[in-house]
Amino acid sequence: MSISQLAREVKESPTLRLNEEAGRLRDKGEPVIHLGSGEPKTKVPLDAILAASAKLKTADIRYTPTEGIPSLIKGIIRYTEDIYNKVIAPENVCVHAGAKQAVYNILMTILNPQDEVIIPAPYWVSYPEIVKMLYGVPVIVQPEDGRFHPRMEDIVEVVGSYTKAIIINSPNNPSGEVYSADFIREIVEFCEKKKIYLLMDDIYHRLIFDDRRTVSCYEFAKDDSDNSRLIVLNGVSKMYAMTGFRIGWSIANRKVTSTLINVSAQNTSCPSVILQAAAAGALEGVQSGVESLRQTLENARNVMLKELDAFTGIRTIKPGGTFYCLPDFRAYEKDSVKLCRFLLDKALVVTVPGVEFGMEGHLRLSYCGTIKEITEGVKRIKWALDPDSPNEIYIGDRKFRRDWK
Ligand code: PMP
Repeated sequence: MSISQLAREVKESPTLRLNEEAGRLRDKGEPVIHLGSGEPKTKVPLDAILAASAKLKTADIRYTPTEGIPSLIKGIIRYTEDIYNKVIAPENVCVHAGAKQAVYNILMTILNPQDEVIIPAPYWVSYPEIVKMLYGVPVIVQPEDGRFHPRMEDIVEVVGSYTKAIIINSPNNPSGEVYSADFIREIVEFCEKKKIYLLMDDIYHRLIFDDRRTVSCYEFAKDDSDNSRLIVLNGVSKMYAMTGFRIGWSIANRKVTSTLINVSAQNTSCPSVILQAAAAGALEGVQSGVESLRQTLENARNVMLKELDAFTGIRTIKPGGTFYCLPDFRAYEKDSVKLCRFLLDKALVVTVPGVEFGMEGHLRLSYCGTIKEITEGVKRIKWALDPDSPNEIYIGDRKFRRDWK
């Protein structure tokens, strides 16, 4: 069987693979704790459900314009004005089947083969894979050891004649790091000066802690014309806990957006009208759910940090947002895939190996589950790794014995 070389090189999604494995173990009755998940567990906003149901009840479910239904575009324009203090036009907006597809379609619109895309590590697993799928070249920039915040000088150093774009994701998946306003200003100004596309993946920008304020990249942009290379990506998955609805959007200059709409028209036609109606409902409806999710996550982050603090040997940088943290486990094991496997086999805890995010020796732990899952999950990890732990613990109603050093 002949399969494309390019397709064969695309990596399997580690989180989806781990979800399947955890599901299989659960089906067998194993008391698995999932600290690998990337979706909040709160209920979808009622306004989203009502809007989707109302649309479904019309029994008139058709294609929509590729760029999205007018009510959703209106909602995105209002959101951008409220949250970013930026006035945009409908011609700047395109709706996609998730922010992931927004990243793909945008990169397909701007990249030529061999173009380079700079991605600071740790990064969301899909960025380098998407760049490679479009015959581009991901250029990874590592932070200083022991930090997650990128340094401007390290980015500047790798910029060359092939550099087409830089992708910034703050708050960051997988570290929870919130990049400083100074850094955002510098990178916006630098990309404007160098005529490099800057993709701001803002999917977690409302889920920030410790009285932080959402920073608007537009605040620092001087070029407001159709030559602006600033592109903002967002979606309903995280802030409204609507991962299954698959609605994201991009905001770019009119020229980029009109070409992007052609690209999207040929690969998707349009996202489902029912799900677009739901997203419009969420954007237009009662907003208190976002704040209550944010508070729940901040509390869960505090619990996770407290549990990890009591665990000598591992180093954790306090996440300022998202629902992830990325502790450094190198004192116990340098190979994160091996460690992740070990923790699943011995303690039935799902984690995600840091190597997938360009950060070997770390594990991504998510705190979007219940407080009990967080405390029990970290307790089991500690038991499996810390040689001073008792020899036996109960997991569910079974006794587990340490037979390793
Ligand atoms: N960007 C980042 C940084 C993400 O973590 C995710 C989801 N894991 C996405 C984009 C994609 O979100 P969506 O569900 O809208 O495709």
